Amino acid sequence: MRPARALIDLDALRHNYRLARLRHGSRALAVVKANAYGHGAVRCARALEADADGFAVACLEEAQELRAAGITRPILLLEGVFEPAELDAVERDDLWMVVHHAEQLRIIEAARPATPYAVWLKINSGMNRVGFMPEAAADAWQRLNASGKVGEITLMTHFARADEPHVIGTEAQISRFDAATADLPGARSLANSAGVLGWPAAHRDWARPGILLYGADPMPDAGNGLLPVMTLESRVMAVRELAAGEPLGYGARFHAERPTRVGLVAMGYADGYPRSAPDGTPVSVDGQPTGLIGRVSMDMLSVDLTDLPAAGPGSRVELWGNEVPVNAVAQGAGTIAYELLCNVKRVRFEYRDSLSA
Ligand SMILES: *Cc1c(COP(=O)(O)O)cnc(C)c1O
Repeated sequence: MRPARALIDLDALRHNYRLARLRHGSRALAVVKANAYGHGAVRCARALEADADGFAVACLEEAQELRAAGITRPILLLEGVFEPAELDAVERDDLWMVVHHAEQLRIIEAARPATPYAVWLKINSGMNRVGFMPEAAADAWQRLNASGKVGEITLMTHFARADEPHVIGTEAQISRFDAATADLPGARSLANSAGVLGWPAAHRDWARPGILLYGADPMPDAGNGLLPVMTLESRVMAVRELAAGEPLGYGARFHAERPTRVGLVAMGYADGYPRSAPDGTPVSVDGQPTGLIGRVSMDMLSVDLTDLPAAGPGSRVELWGNEVPVNAVAQGAGTIAYELLCNVKRVRFEYRDSLSA
């Protein structure tokens, strides 16, 4: 059997959720969109269900997968509905939905729900992606309230740069949100992961942590005590000796400067390991640090074993996890941990959970 696998530590996931809730000081929706950032939405939601105040996903299809698996906690649709036909399912599955633009307002006004919808009204406080402009917030709230179709209205916004502690944009977003909503009743939700970890002024009624649940700190080096949830690992399947000057792999990107012992590892970009990772990207072989050499190919990659004489065929290779921070790989590859985690595929997923062991 091909040894490439992703080990998912559900105890670590619960640890991170509890840490988020403690740091934020009130309720937190666990964001499990995009298949729980590549970790498996149903397994992650089940592991969190006893603790979590609720979940957030991108769209109806993701929420339905969780309901079909027996998840009964509140689920928020972060992008709301895309068309009126989705409202039946919203009602049937008892979902909460974001309302972020005028068309969604009209859809709700025209609907005939048997029980009022729970709505999160999204305000654009400076990210300029989606959300009502601050000056339109009160009017949108009044329309929802007057529609008779809506019960509780939660007020929310989303940060563009909360992972940059020394940038003033986040403070400006908080004040714009507060000014726009000063006269409106209802719970507030501002903080994503970086907001939870770095911006106490953004701590309100509900947090929406995503990436931190999976143990990737949006502000690396902050020492927040998160535990990595995914370990992406495989094994050395062959070893080759290169003489000084010899090339390795596609495009001959790497040339041996010295006699080099190369470990070929069963892991490639078809598994989600980034092809853009440069020579020297950290990997761990039998617990020892070394680096990637040569271009990552579809089904395999190569690592430098020259200084690890005990390593050979069968040696365990960690691509990221407890020994190699996923943030370090992302930084080298010119991307973010979010993208690496979401991209993992083809490998076997194995789950560890001390509570259901
Ligand atoms: C994805 C998302 C989050 C979670 O963001 P993280 O940076 O992963 O914590 C929170 N809120 C909204 C609206 C989102 O789309």
